[in-house]
Amino acid sequence: MNKKIFVTKPSMPPLQEYVEQLKIIWNNEWLTNNGIMHNTFEDELKSYLQVDYTTLYVNGHLALDCAIKALNLNGEVITTPFTFVSTTHAIVMNGLTPVFCDIKMEDYTIDENKIESLINEKTTAILAVHVYGCPCNVEVLEKIARKHQLKLIYDAAHAFGVGINGKSIASYGDISMFSFHATKVFNSIEGGALVYEDGSLQKRLNQLKNFGIEGPEEIVDTGFNAKMNEFSAAMGLCNLKYLKEDIEIRKHITMLYNESLSDCVGIKILDTQKQNYTQNYAYFPILVDHTVTGFTRDELFNKLLNNDIFTRKYFYPLITKSECYHLKYGNVYLPVADYVSERVLTLPIYASLDDNDVERICNIIKAM
Ligand SMILES: *Cc1c(COP(=O)(O)O)cnc(C)c1O
Repeated sequence: MNKKIFVTKPSMPPLQEYVEQLKIIWNNEWLTNNGIMHNTFEDELKSYLQVDYTTLYVNGHLALDCAIKALNLNGEVITTPFTFVSTTHAIVMNGLTPVFCDIKMEDYTIDENKIESLINEKTTAILAVHVYGCPCNVEVLEKIARKHQLKLIYDAAHAFGVGINGKSIASYGDISMFSFHATKVFNSIEGGALVYEDGSLQKRLNQLKNFGIEGPEEIVDTGFNAKMNEFSAAMGLCNLKYLKEDIEIRKHITMLYNESLSDCVGIKILDTQKQNYTQNYAYFPILVDHTVTGFTRDELFNKLLNNDIFTRKYFYPLITKSECYHLKYGNVYLPVADYVSERVLTLPIYASLDDNDVERICNIIKAM
């Protein structure tokens, strides 16, 4: 019997540290609605991310939905097809039309050179994704957005802890969304945050997560219940202390994979070394070029599965080919995104993954 290796495992703080936080919650008898844990977590995030404003949510998806609402968008939003479906759902749920732009081969983020040809009088925003924690070309996107007066939103669900040119990735765009879901590099069980520099958005963002309520007798907007509770905030506070350490271990695992797989012809590894950014090593995606390897991505997926190693075809199918969206949005030419989606496989990576497990995974790949 093999030991099962999952694609990810949540980071867990020492139990006693969480129990200490629970005692505080029990003493306060305050479980949600801007409790002490919530407010402390918000403050710690602001200083960690070096930003002026952050608003916490029950999850990343509703945070993104609220961001779109708060920016009063209409018409078309240019976005990437190579993402988790949450990104597209948030656009469509707001009555907007997603316009899909192809991605770049080197880091799978939206291809900034293909954006301008998709802009027309209906375009109101760009919603880009720092996929796998790789930063989009933030400088060029900023220029395009400014030139055409578009809002710029980042789905930074994968990118907590990433920096560019010594700055936090959160400091780019009009609003960035982070997800603190259990499977992400940093988790608060479930949770999410919006980060922004325009303080005038804060009031609306707080209303939108609390039924559009401003005060005891003032219901000013249509809104969700999307507030972060005290237990999640407490988990976030505990995990934040270990984030740096976790990222170091993820880096070590990435290096082990890189070393071991570097001589596998036909297997492309994401280059996390070359650019002027600090990675968070959130994922370890490989591309399997079957014309060189002699085996397909799906064959490798199955082989690993038969050895109790659980990988993910992350992101396959492409959003534009999903059952949900292909009829409406499938008629687009996205050669790079198609190519990547058909060949990509994300290998297990998490802070408690053993070196020996990495070796076992690599040995199976090499023996294909
Ligand atoms: C996880 C994820 C989301 C959604 O975040 P939740 O906290 O799970 O709601 C959105 N976009 C991307 C790219 C994600 O990976």
